[in-house]
Amino acid sequence: MNRKYRKTVIAGNWKMNKLPSEVKPFADELKTLVPKQKWCDVVICAPFVDLPAAVKAFRDAKVGVGAENLNENEKGAFTGEVSANMLTDLGVKYVIIGHSERRQYYGETDFSVNAKVHTALEAGLNPIVCVGESLEQREKGITLELIALQVKTALSGVSADKMRRVIIAYEPIWAIGTGKTATAEQANEVCSAIRGVIRDIYGARVARSVTIQYGGSMNEKNAAELLAQPDIDGGLIGGASLVPEKFAAIINAANQD
Ligand code: PEP
Repeated sequence: MNRKYRKTVIAGNWKMNKLPSEVKPFADELKTLVPKQKWCDVVICAPFVDLPAAVKAFRDAKVGVGAENLNENEKGAFTGEVSANMLTDLGVKYVIIGHSERRQYYGETDFSVNAKVHTALEAGLNPIVCVGESLEQREKGITLELIALQVKTALSGVSADKMRRVIIAYEPIWAIGTGKTATAEQANEVCSAIRGVIRDIYGARVARSVTIQYGGSMNEKNAAELLAQPDIDGGLIGGASLVPEKFAAIINAANQD
């Protein structure tokens, strides 16, 4: 973390978990466990149907609510899809874009990610843009080139001004939901390389201020060590964000003086 230059953001990704009726009990418990977050922003990204309940439950807690996806088109004949304006109309502030599960199961590509980033920014949402390598790619030694390409494509055409609202989440695919965490050094190496790519495109000032999260089996035990790294500005947390005590412990790790 480097709180002097950029925000620390702890974001939960509930994936396809939690019923709308389970949102308020979760929020009540989290609010008791974390009465105020001093140093970091907290976000809960929830399934579409949970969003109205989440916006209502977290309104008084300064917890931002995010979606897990959006459609890149403004409106129209796209059965089953959800637009950016539908999200903002609800009071949603963030959206995860290009999560590896969407790339793997729903055919999302760096190009569709780029289109969605533009749509989200146009609508006033804060995109959390996911990038990450597979185990095979890591073992072949091409992680940094691959991530650089993902970042450059995802951000293609995004202005320096709009970059202030973009969060990048480095999520090695081999660490998501597997219990295998990247070491703090491995995670920081890639987050630092991502900052370097942003520096090449936008210059030092933008690079210094962009929030770059780590995601991949971050939990209450390893969060402090990961967050102590200079280029890791928070976390995107799947499994551990479903349990208030675990998620609160990660928030508290980010809140340490
Ligand atoms: C994720 O879904 O983005 C994620 C990092 O999941 P987990 O924390 O469960 O590995």
